[in-house]
Amino acid sequence: MNIRSMGRPAQILLVEDSPQDVQLIENALTGTVVRSTLYVARDGVEALDFLYREGGYANAPRPDLILLDLNLPRKDGREVLAVIKADEELKRIPLIVFTVSNSEEDIIKAYDLHANCYITKPVDPDSFIAHVRSIQDFWSSWVELPPNRRRNGRRKP
Ligand SMILES: [Mg+2]
Repeated sequence: MNIRSMGRPAQILLVEDSPQDVQLIENALTGTVVRSTLYVARDGVEALDFLYREGGYANAPRPDLILLDLNLPRKDGREVLAVIKADEELKRIPLIVFTVSNSEEDIIKAYDLHANCYITKPVDPDSFIAHVRSIQDFWSSWVELPPNRRRNGRRKP
């Protein structure tokens, strides 16, 4: 079932270290047809703590969607992507790479690691906002999501 027909807000985990981009994305997600609840992780360590409900995120919801920047402090977005897509449950959460990088190497690597799509951030703010709204609309209104199965803790090695 898609989020729109569930009649609830889309829960989005935004992994982004740029305050300007966080602000633009917050603005873009205000007043959309399907509402969003945005959770922001400022680096890769915070993102994984949120997803594994560790380090102060014990009550974090399972996001419907992950928007992931690649260049991040502490733990790089590429590493975060690899961890998520190697996890039996987290790998089902649709993950959109949203980054300034348009390098072929990054694009190939992201798809090799099973990113669900890769979008380069537009430089123009209006276009940036339009991109974010399209992403949200597409994934909330048209995409069938996997059932939400909660599980706590990291998989034992
Ligand atoms: Mg960044």
